[in-house]
Amino acid sequence: MDAIVIGTGFGGLGAALTLAKAGAEVLVLESLNYPGGCAGTFSRSGRRFDAGATVAAGFGKGQLFRQWMDELGLKVDPVALVSAVELRAEGLALTIPSDRSAFAAQLAQLPGAPPGIHDFIVQQGRVADALWPLFADPDLLPPLSLASLAKHAGRAGSYLPVVATLGRTVEGVMRKCGVADFFPLRLAVDAGLQITVQTDATHADATFGLSAMDFWLREPVHIRGGMGNLADALVEGIRGLGGTVSFADRAKEIHRDGAHWIVRHRHGRTRAPLVIANLLPSALSSLLPAPLPMLSSLQKQVVRGWGAVAWFLVIRGQHLPPEAFHLQLVLDATAPLTDGNHVLVSISAADEVERAGPGLRVVTATTHVRLPASPSDIERVQTLMRRTLDLRAPELIIVEALPASPRTYARFTGRPEGWVGGPPRERGLSNYTAAFPRPVAEGLYLVGDSTFPGQSTLATAVGGHRVATLALRAGLMH
Ligand SMILES: Cc1cc2nc3c(=O)[nH]c(=O)nc-3n(C[C@H](O)[C@H](O)[C@H](O)COP(=O)(O)OP(=O)(O)OC[C@H]3O[C@@H](n4cnc5c(N)ncnc54)[C@H](O)[C@@H]3O)c2cc1C
Repeated sequence: MDAIVIGTGFGGLGAALTLAKAGAEVLVLESLNYPGGCAGTFSRSGRRFDAGATVAAGFGKGQLFRQWMDELGLKVDPVALVSAVELRAEGLALTIPSDRSAFAAQLAQLPGAPPGIHDFIVQQGRVADALWPLFADPDLLPPLSLASLAKHAGRAGSYLPVVATLGRTVEGVMRKCGVADFFPLRLAVDAGLQITVQTDATHADATFGLSAMDFWLREPVHIRGGMGNLADALVEGIRGLGGTVSFADRAKEIHRDGAHWIVRHRHGRTRAPLVIANLLPSALSSLLPAPLPMLSSLQKQVVRGWGAVAWFLVIRGQHLPPEAFHLQLVLDATAPLTDGNHVLVSISAADEVERAGPGLRVVTATTHVRLPASPSDIERVQTLMRRTLDLRAPELIIVEALPASPRTYARFTGRPEGWVGGPPRERGLSNYTAAFPRPVAEGLYLVGDSTFPGQSTLATAVGGHRVATLALRAGLMH
């Protein structure tokens, strides 16, 4: 075997697909009997719920998932969202369109809109325009070869707006444009940043934060049938290229033997010169015979982050818009946008009858929670989430409700204690130093949202592709 990939999260799938495309003999191990991790779709009592991720990016012209779909003929059905998301708070219902200029025009028409809105949205767009192409051409991120350095040189002008944001927070940029205290925009930015870079405008690194705001504005899609269908399609892509994907086959132990790693897993022992682990640093540590200092320092970043609490719902669907749609509900806009006070609610499309049955829709509703959280903390958050749903989205008529806690996410993802979402991208140099993937030991790499660039299905897939490319360049196989 040339390489073993542990885990079929999007980081692992991206890495395995890139290795298989390069002709490597790859074994992918997955603990569960379905792929996707935080972005998988699971079945319960005949319903098909998205575990976490519900919105995908990366299907625009030339972007990574689109490229893979076209090259490998992957069977996946991305449906453009009519509007990206509707933000609701007391006295506010703001539809965020999946188009930046429409968003700016809509904000500018609101009562009390400050003149700087246009400047802020233009600046945000310039930063995003400079950075998002890196997701279409992942070899640029970081430059892994002379050819990619040359490509960077050709784009140097587009990086100037990024330079202006270095070392600043999103709030700092908003303040400079005179829009930091304009409530509808500020709430939209804070709520969007919480779910993309896991922190608010006051703390978010401006470069990451402004770029992540494009998550809603850059052709977001709904994957028909659930996000797990995208993971299934990538698995089929790996198999079509000759790779092996083995489900219900947890990796239990890894150790070094000469120039190889030996992975003991549920169905056997496999040796390979390269192992790519789609795990949290602490989970990889627990598989190794001795701790590695780099893993403990990476884990320190992870535990600055969050767990998730969720409700998986079945609702009546006939009176709702037929397409899949998303709501960001805020109960109290003056309180932190976490712990049930802010809930992202994703509703399946009416024609996905295989997910819920005729006339019904499935819903994934999630919120952030600090860890560790006691059972009573979780119960309090779940109760507050229901209140937020009842008050802000009374049109959702719930017929079944399944609660989930960080322990559920630990089971869904193999992530110890249920740490999800990746480290908050707060202002600081560590965001940039992490941009250069390094092995944690010879021939052993980490991928996933605890590593750069992390934090979405697209970002983790790009990260997996970069790490696999680096390993191929290091000549680790054959
Ligand atoms: C609630 C929530 C909502 C989100 N919403 C969105 C969204 O709408 N859009 C978006 O793009 N992103 C979203 N994200 C972020 C996105 O889902 C994650 O960043 C991404 O999916 C993480 O991928 P990963 O590569 O880190 O792998 P993970 O998702 O962590 O998957 C790891 C995989 O490894 C397997 N595994 C673990 N241990 C072992 C072992 N020992 N042996 C074998 N297999 C093992 C697990 O079973 C799992 O399948 C959301 C995340 C959460 C939690």
